[in-house]
Amino acid sequence: MQSFLGIYIHIPFCTNICNYCDFCKIFYNKKYINNYLDNLEKEIKSRYKGEIVNSIYIGGGTPTSLDKDELERLFKITKIFNKSKDIEFTIESNVESLNLDKIKLLKKYSVNRVSIGVQSFDKDILKLLNRNHNKEKTIDIIKKLKTNGLTNINIDLIYGIIPNRDVLKKDLDIFLELDIPHISCYSLIIEPHTYLYINDYHNIDDNIEYDDYKYIRDRLLDNNYNHYEISNYSKLGYESSHNINYWDNGNYYGFGLSAVSFIDNKRISNTKNLSKYLKGNYIDSIELEDKDIRMSNTMILGLRKIDGVNINSFKDIYNEDINKVFDIDKLLEDKLLMIEDGYLKINPKYLYLSNEILINFLERKN
Ligand code: SF4
Repeated sequence: MQSFLGIYIHIPFCTNICNYCDFCKIFYNKKYINNYLDNLEKEIKSRYKGEIVNSIYIGGGTPTSLDKDELERLFKITKIFNKSKDIEFTIESNVESLNLDKIKLLKKYSVNRVSIGVQSFDKDILKLLNRNHNKEKTIDIIKKLKTNGLTNINIDLIYGIIPNRDVLKKDLDIFLELDIPHISCYSLIIEPHTYLYINDYHNIDDNIEYDDYKYIRDRLLDNNYNHYEISNYSKLGYESSHNINYWDNGNYYGFGLSAVSFIDNKRISNTKNLSKYLKGNYIDSIELEDKDIRMSNTMILGLRKIDGVNINSFKDIYNEDINKVFDIDKLLEDKLLMIEDGYLKINPKYLYLSNEILINFLERKN
């Protein structure tokens, strides 16, 4: 039986550049789009071998920054894929680039999950981030999605921009009122070369960040959301299968500028240079991952899941015991890691320390 296979497609264009953005993106310019889509189609046809795909995720950039005709062309390209019956088909979008015509197009081409970069409902925070939407427009677009049958919605929320519990509380109040089945919550990391960094904004104090993390988790659990990955919560059955496949270190193709694939133990990284991509030089590097690297990746990605890593599955795949490959005794003794129902996982009490625990874990390779 073929295991799960995901497809990631990167659309790097954005009509507005956010003050914190460190992703591979380019200001939307109509003159590049057709050429980009031509190359995307060529790249897919040159590498995809007709396997059944279980998820498609169109990310960016802002895929919905494409106009209606460009978006339709993109969806026609996705017809190349041999889709499983229960495929999860996600598109990332932002509030200002979505409208009723585009929503109808999503339905027409069987997109069944929409992830919206909301980030906050607070007008001052949105201004600081240089996002052009507001609370009213966000609520309106979510209503339009739902009334058109697109109910499987995620919103991305950023916290820790400034230390202000009131803003976080209100953001979660509005999210809960909207009755959306999935939320990804990220604390803002101010990356070098971004507008915020250059203008002397700093990451908030670790203790405030940890308190915010606990506050979010408690409120979402109290409201029947399942915490299934460090930053991700969903109503039961609305977990993102595409992202779970990443955390399972599963196979996926990545197409488009800067996209990464992991297929048959090969990590293939596409170029981040648009001119190279548009000339057909899609791939930047190919690395064959040996067993050691794969075991480390399986653990580091797998421990991001709240359920952790299945100890027997690890043994079946690698013919090795986790506790012989990694020296985990001290982490278990300190109760940072725990074993429950055959899974090795981060102790939920210390999830807010997950980055430190994962670094510590990697250093304990025998
Ligand atoms: S929409 Fe996303 S990719 Fe585009 S600039 Fe903002 S954060 Fe970056």
